[in-house]
Parts: sequence; C-alpha cells; structure tokens
Amino acid sequence: MAAHNRPNYWWSLFTMKCPRCRKGPMFVSKNPWNLRTTLKMPEKCPECGQPYKLEVGFWYGTGYVSYVLTVAFSIFSFIAWWLIIGISVNDDRFFAWIIVNAVLMILLQPWFMRLSRVIYLKFFVSYDPDYKNTQVRTFDYETGGYYDPQNPEIKK
Ligand SMILES: [Zn+2]
Repeated sequence: MAAHNRPNYWWSLFTMKCPRCRKGPMFVSKNPWNLRTTLKMPEKCPECGQPYKLEVGFWYGTGYVSYVLTVAFSIFSFIAWWLIIGISVNDDRFFAWIIVNAVLMILLQPWFMRLSRVIYLKFFVSYDPDYKNTQVRTFDYETGGYYDPQNPEIKK
C-alpha cells in the first residue's frame, strides 16, 4: 500500500487512465481527434488487467454522462462569456455565445466521448492501490451484478 505513490484522481481522469490502477491508458491512441480510433480501447488494462467493458452494451450508459458533461460545459462557457465578453439584450453577444459554444462542443465532442467512458467506468471500478495482489472487478452473469473483490458481499 504505497500511499505516496497514489496517482492523483483528477490527473488520472483527464489523462484517461484506468480507474483501478490509474496507470494503464484506457484508449489505444493518445489523440481523441483521430476519429477512426477515438473510441478504440484495449480489451483490458495493460497495467492491471481490469476489463474495460464489463458486460455487453456496457457503454450505452455513457449517454447520460456525456449529456451532463455537455450541459456543465455550456454553463461554464456561458459564465466565462458573461464575465469576459458580457451579455446584453441590446446586441448580438448572446447569439455569438450560442454559436461559439456550439462550435466548441462539436470540436470537443471526441474528447467528451472519451471522458464520458472514463467517468462511467469509475462508477463501477474503484481505485485499488493494491491492484497487483487483488482481483479485477467483473460482471457476474449468474447473479446479474457486479462482482467487486474488495467488497464481495455488496452486489450492485
Ligand atoms: Zn488498470
């Protein structure tokens, strides 16, 4: 249990690392804007062996995460625009924000898609500093729940 070696939560999130070890990359290509490989992931983490897709259709749930991200981003960009450029009913600054925000969201879409998967997997797989000596988290088809080796009693 090397606490001093614990990779930072936010750092691992924004560098798209495996939630279990926070070291292995979750995507094959580093560049999300290469659209052919945007969502290409290794089957499991190259560092700790954690499978990324816990069950068939697992990634459908990311739609909710990406919706929340999109709304949060728009609120953030609206506040930033308001503070830096200003919003008025007497000119087009509000409409300019709508256009700029839409363009930014389209440009950031590949990155949002990846971030949604990273956040979504974090709901199911928690950080395990002792990952070299413990089992990975898996979906149990017999019970229809997620098996967490750290809390074997709790079925989600
Ligand atoms: Zn890992």
